[in-house]
Amino acid sequence: MFDVIISGGGPTGMMLASELRLHKVDVLVLEKDAEPSKAVRSLGLHPRSIEIMDQRGLLERFLAHGQQYPGVGHFAGITGPPPTNLDTAHGYVLGIPQPVTDRLLAERAVELGAQIRRGSEVTNVEQDDDGVSVELSDGTRLRSHWLVGCDGGRSLVRRLLGIGFPGEPAKTEWLLAEVEVTTTPDELTKVVEEVRRTHKGFGIGPTGDGLHRAVVPAASVAEDRTSTPTLEEFRTQLRAYAGTDFGVHSPRWMSRFTDTTRLADQYRVGRVLLAGDAAHVHPPIGGQGLNLGIQDAFNLGWKLAAEVTGWAPKGLLDSYFTERHPVAEDVLTMTRAQSELISPEPGPQAVRRMLTELAKFEDVGRFLAEKTTSIGIRYDFGEGPELLGRRLRDISLSRGHLYGLTRQGRGLLLDQTGKLSVRGWTDRIDYIEDVSEELDSPAVLLRPDGHVAWIGDKQNDLLRHLPTWFGSAS
Ligand SMILES: Cc1cc2nc3c(=O)[nH]c(=O)nc-3n(C[C@H](O)[C@H](O)[C@H](O)COP(=O)(O)OP(=O)(O)OC[C@H]3O[C@@H](n4cnc5c(N)ncnc54)[C@H](O)[C@@H]3O)c2cc1C
Repeated sequence: MFDVIISGGGPTGMMLASELRLHKVDVLVLEKDAEPSKAVRSLGLHPRSIEIMDQRGLLERFLAHGQQYPGVGHFAGITGPPPTNLDTAHGYVLGIPQPVTDRLLAERAVELGAQIRRGSEVTNVEQDDDGVSVELSDGTRLRSHWLVGCDGGRSLVRRLLGIGFPGEPAKTEWLLAEVEVTTTPDELTKVVEEVRRTHKGFGIGPTGDGLHRAVVPAASVAEDRTSTPTLEEFRTQLRAYAGTDFGVHSPRWMSRFTDTTRLADQYRVGRVLLAGDAAHVHPPIGGQGLNLGIQDAFNLGWKLAAEVTGWAPKGLLDSYFTERHPVAEDVLTMTRAQSELISPEPGPQAVRRMLTELAKFEDVGRFLAEKTTSIGIRYDFGEGPELLGRRLRDISLSRGHLYGLTRQGRGLLLDQTGKLSVRGWTDRIDYIEDVSEELDSPAVLLRPDGHVAWIGDKQNDLLRHLPTWFGSAS
């Protein structure tokens, strides 16, 4: 009997496994593929995900494998001047191919003691009052108290639960590959610039290791979207859009993706939950899917661990849905808007020209940056100061920096008054008496995901709020 079984060992599943292991939860990750995928879908991490890596002590590993790009991303390829004083210590995009992100997250989960079984495909899930029964394709049956479907956009777990997945089906499909080319670099650049004047959904450029990443719209939406495109299909589409196939050959991998946009209408049924692409799919424009999945896992991990450990207050686990569903809804809005803005039709092009002008205004740039990077997220914790419900950025303290104190995934009371106490909750919350010039609140209570759950200087008020997030005193 496992505490938690995670179906799907992508970035969401691995991040969740690590978060659960920080609380000594017994976790098994079941991944159907025997080997990790070579396909490079995501190209990088946004500031909020970089912050998360810092909060858990993984930043150095990620920085060592990635490249920092100044700025905070783009909106449908529209970039204005980067907004000043963005509320983060990590105001850059970290370029890092998804297979590397996936590997680093898997290594971390294993280090923390998660069990990972590759080549294990979940084929059925049934739940009762006491737990969940999971069946694998080889007939193995397993049992756990909880199951989380992190099994991607075509999630079997979501379908077995009968969770609604409303949204729009694919209108367009793209072919994506890493290939070798015979065209000279100058000629390639010239052609790409010309085609991209009208077709923003087309591109081909060097990966840095001798190959080229190519993306081109497909002729139609394939019936079986899991099927690998042929090189001939690729060449035909490149010729249709660019007048040349660039002499593409020897692909490292090829795949297809679409602009399907859907959002699960529940993230939990009984003892089974969903996270990542299993809960939401959208076109990759803006590069938010993997970031969103990692952040789902970061929100869910400590709440599910609290449930398993037995101290979860009523409603804590359900706050995973009430907090994260609106965030995903927002990302879907952003990607729908961006998909329109890359259309070559005159209407969307006119809106694009206007938005290009608007993006030059500081406030517009800031609004878009806070959305794409997720640093603007504010959960609804009720009335209170502006910081309440937001995650606190990394700040300097006399004993180091804040994120350096959050490695274990526990709650934290940062007390600048020296008068407060978390006695009764020290098994769940760290108490830090320190001061920072960057914090103008007397004391803040941080949840394990770094969001500010309480601000104040009165012990009585603190005691009233502690149980909401951390359960009864022990
Ligand atoms: C072209 C493209 C570019 C992208 N670029 C970006 C980007 O720049 N930035 C960004 O943030 N996101 C990007 N994304 C999105 C990103 O790739 C996904 O959002 C991310 O991989 C989702 O992670 P996940 O773990 O939720 O799901 P997945 O990565 O899909 O992982 C799900 C895992 O579950 C396994 N699985 C499925 N079914 C079963 C089963 N029955 N039993 C056991 N295991 C199962 C699968 O094998 C898979 O390993 C891009 C996507 C595409 C297609």
